[in-house]
Amino acid sequence: MSVVAELRGVSVELGDDDRRVAALTRIDLQVAAGQILGVAGESGAGKSTLARTLLRLVQPQAGTVLLEGNDITAQPERRLRRLRGRMTMTFRNPLAVLNPRMTVRALLEEPLRLHARLTAPARRAAVEALAERLRLRAGELELRPAELDAGRAQLVGLGRAIATQPRLLVLDEPTCELDTVAAAEFLALLASLRDSADMAIVLIGHDITALQPVADRIAVLYLGEIVEEGPTADLLRDALHPYSQALLSAHLPADPTRRGRRIRLRGEAPTPDDRTPGCGFAPRCPIAENRCRSGAPTPNQIGTDRRVACLRVLEGSSRIPLTR
Ligand code: SF4
Repeated sequence: MSVVAELRGVSVELGDDDRRVAALTRIDLQVAAGQILGVAGESGAGKSTLARTLLRLVQPQAGTVLLEGNDITAQPERRLRRLRGRMTMTFRNPLAVLNPRMTVRALLEEPLRLHARLTAPARRAAVEALAERLRLRAGELELRPAELDAGRAQLVGLGRAIATQPRLLVLDEPTCELDTVAAAEFLALLASLRDSADMAIVLIGHDITALQPVADRIAVLYLGEIVEEGPTADLLRDALHPYSQALLSAHLPADPTRRGRRIRLRGEAPTPDDRTPGCGFAPRCPIAENRCRSGAPTPNQIGTDRRVACLRVLEGSSRIPLTR
């Protein structure tokens, strides 16, 4: 599979000159054509910054951003504008970004007008084909955003993002406002796009289980660092980083005969301001040792296809003991 988008050693600081915080630190990430990469983490982990950095909506302070092998880290906006149709994004709350005066038809046509050289009849045909692909219902093309529920609005956002047949599609928590049925339908549509269109998809989500139905690989983000990354099935079967284990355990069925299986983390999800020396997860990690508070772990390659940033992983002692 060919790599479509890549971050190499990317670090991003946000804020003004008086107060800058590290939003992402030394991120290495790849996503290939025909692949869905899930990115999981709590609020403040840096998920949205990561999404925006992949699309070069954020300028990193260090590292390299590549699209189809081309370095776009320092490209001026004027040059990036030409690439905008090839790398697209959907937003958490599409109703906030859709023009309320436009119909769904006009909303789907707009990216084609901006980024594709098509005649008016070809554009109209492309919108009809897109509506079919999105499985829009009869008459929905003539509705305006206020007449759509969250699920249908998210579909229109997706339609706008894929109208130009991008190589990279980034979705920022697309199902967080949807009910279970609409979320399942949306993910099924995403899976069919992955299988039929030769694009790379990055799916940002709050927790691993929301990504698991469609993600081929999952990266877990904590305080702006990737703490674990690997094939979804491996990570679900045997999460190796203590934070991934805690995220997964939050979704275990409440079973009174197996008390203690849920891993309860100390304290709230931190913000970059709370960063302490050593491992960023140490203040909440149930198996932290003294060395974790001074030495920051770097990602360790596990097998051929996984990376885990924990000082205990190579010793085989990074699994949190499950007490009853
Ligand atoms: S390095 Fe230490 S504190 Fe960090 S996740 Fe591993 S065991 Fe926990």
